[in-house]
Amino acid sequence: MIVVETIDKIREAVKGLQSEGKKVAFVPTMGALHNGHLSLFRLAKKHADEVVVSIYVNPEQFGPNEDFGNYPRNLERDLTFCKEEGISVVFTPSDEIMYGKGKKFLSIEIEELNDYLDGGSRPGYFQGIALVVNKLFNIVGPDVAVFGQKDYQQFQIIHQMVKEFNHDLELVMAPIERAEDGLALSSRNAYLSKEERELAPLMYNTMKKVVQEIQNGLLEPDSLLDKEQQQLETKGFKNDYLSVFSMNRMTPVSQLKKGETYLLAGAVYLGKTRLIDNIIFEC
Ligand code: AMP
Repeated sequence: MIVVETIDKIREAVKGLQSEGKKVAFVPTMGALHNGHLSLFRLAKKHADEVVVSIYVNPEQFGPNEDFGNYPRNLERDLTFCKEEGISVVFTPSDEIMYGKGKKFLSIEIEELNDYLDGGSRPGYFQGIALVVNKLFNIVGPDVAVFGQKDYQQFQIIHQMVKEFNHDLELVMAPIERAEDGLALSSRNAYLSKEERELAPLMYNTMKKVVQEIQNGLLEPDSLLDKEQQQLETKGFKNDYLSVFSMNRMTPVSQLKKGETYLLAGAVYLGKTRLIDNIIFEC
């Protein structure tokens, strides 16, 4: 495994592999790796000969009052995981390498796909992600890129970006990796106190219950969703959103149709920790 910090070196490494006829898969991460990331690495390996991982906490996707400064960072441990997983190249750029110095004249705007879910709650978040992923695709030049369903809206926006900006790569979505009690794995789970960690799986349990009700025939789930959110509040969660969304346009849907596929997605705070989760289900 090689670890590289510069654009020239990552390009040289990836082009070298591709010139040997190898297919290269890329998994962008912000580090603080957990089993969710490792499941992406393993899926990437099924789609390619070699796997390249980036570890970069992207300042552009954090709002002024968000946790950029506190975001967990542990490069040494991350590199051990990457080595154990048989990763070929790890790209660990600095902010200066990613963004250079001086004024920036361009940005990426996103229409509609960004209006609800995390896009609605975190202004600038997906513009920052689209920007860094666009740059990383141009820098790394992979044949395949793997992202998690955990961030479904992110996947959808990147999918659209690949299509509209003609990135020459195949996108693969990996399922959500969960702890035994159902909590979706996340680097931010490290912020949870013992009590909060015990409470956290209630979010996914609630979501599973809602999906079950819908599949039992409840085609207008809004009042149930309101009731379940109130329940979560009484247990100590602070709600951001919990709704059914269309799979492609990322807009809320109140009247469901039998046979259609939807996304139930939620975001809550436990203390200061923001947790997101989702379930893709057929109605
Ligand atoms: P992050 O380091 O949080 O930016 O995540 C890097 C990639 O890992 C993204 O594509 C995420 O969607 C994905 N990911 C994060 N958590 C999970 C999880 N629990 N299961 C599967 N993929 C995940």
